[in-house]
Amino acid sequence: MYKMMTPGPTMVAENVRMARSLETGNPDFDVDFYDYYKETCELYSDLLYTKNESLILSGEGILGLEAAVASLTEQGDRVLVLDNGVFGKGFADFVSMYGGEPVLYTTDYKREIEVTALREFLEKDSDFTYATVVHCDTPSGMLNPIDQICPLLKEYGILTVVDSVSGMFGNEVRVDDWKIDILCGGSQKAISAPIGLTLVTISEDAKKAMKNRKTPIASFYANLTTFEGYYEKKWFPYSMPISDIYGLGQALENIKEDEDFLARHERIATKTREYLTSIGLQLYAENGYSNTVTVFKVPEGVTAEQLLQTVREDHNILLAGSFDVLAGEVIRIGHMGYNCTEENIKATLEAIELSLKKLNETNLNL
Ligand SMILES: *Cc1c(COP(=O)(O)O)cnc(C)c1O
Repeated sequence: MYKMMTPGPTMVAENVRMARSLETGNPDFDVDFYDYYKETCELYSDLLYTKNESLILSGEGILGLEAAVASLTEQGDRVLVLDNGVFGKGFADFVSMYGGEPVLYTTDYKREIEVTALREFLEKDSDFTYATVVHCDTPSGMLNPIDQICPLLKEYGILTVVDSVSGMFGNEVRVDDWKIDILCGGSQKAISAPIGLTLVTISEDAKKAMKNRKTPIASFYANLTTFEGYYEKKWFPYSMPISDIYGLGQALENIKEDEDFLARHERIATKTREYLTSIGLQLYAENGYSNTVTVFKVPEGVTAEQLLQTVREDHNILLAGSFDVLAGEVIRIGHMGYNCTEENIKATLEAIELSLKKLNETNLNL
């Protein structure tokens, strides 16, 4: 197997794989499983410093984003979509799909959202049902200061939906302190469980907004209210993927027990940026660097495809290109969760350096 240094899915620890292979009962009828599900959700909430309820939904990361939008949007609602990246802008499509009117607040994709400028914008227009913001916009590695953005929006009475699928745990997230109404997470990024689950953390204000809707939520799978009272009623809206959830539970335990987790992400991200720039490469972003993914420009003289292929074939390491407006322009190194070790990053950075040398020599001789 190759080393998978992509910004998700990440590599998976052996104890997570083992947990997924445990014998299972029937999750619809097994009372113990309701306890396990609830405790896993509570552990996740604890790790995000919140008393808000979290739910595990059966579907990968995107389902959580769609569920948040489906559950909050009513016909004609104005929704502020903070857009400084591909995922940021992508929220507008979901908003339109559920009958809302997305209002794009678009800023430079190379820079984090500036809080003072956002405040000036809100002074003039703050008539929004809710706002969407991406914590770490993975195609560019852009990290937004949600610790300031969410409290600011709250001052204006605007609920927030935060996509931290690739941000959380590698970067600090404090849901209660930062007043985040719906936080979306996924199993296959820094949590380092396999692809397949999304997690949503829902504030009391967001629950109230869902309850006070005038029209019903136009979805079943993406309806966050269907889980209401599941524990008391011993009734899930659909059969839960029990093995996936056992794996997730173990992956969250791994994070809880690893006291160096956040600090290690910070250290390795810093080291990665220093190393890349020291060998003459240029980072994509000007600020807003995430601890989970580093994105650098494809240097002159080589193509993204050549570099990815050489690193893969000569060094057995999988890196990622990017997509949408960044396709072919940048290379992405994922250093999150189980990938984020000194050993892995050392091997990855050396592989990049050696591959560039080789490609430059071959291309010169052509
Ligand atoms: C990975 C990711 C998602 C979820 O996408 P998947 O299709 O589940 O991989 C959502 N938002 C961001 C920012 C992500 O990085």
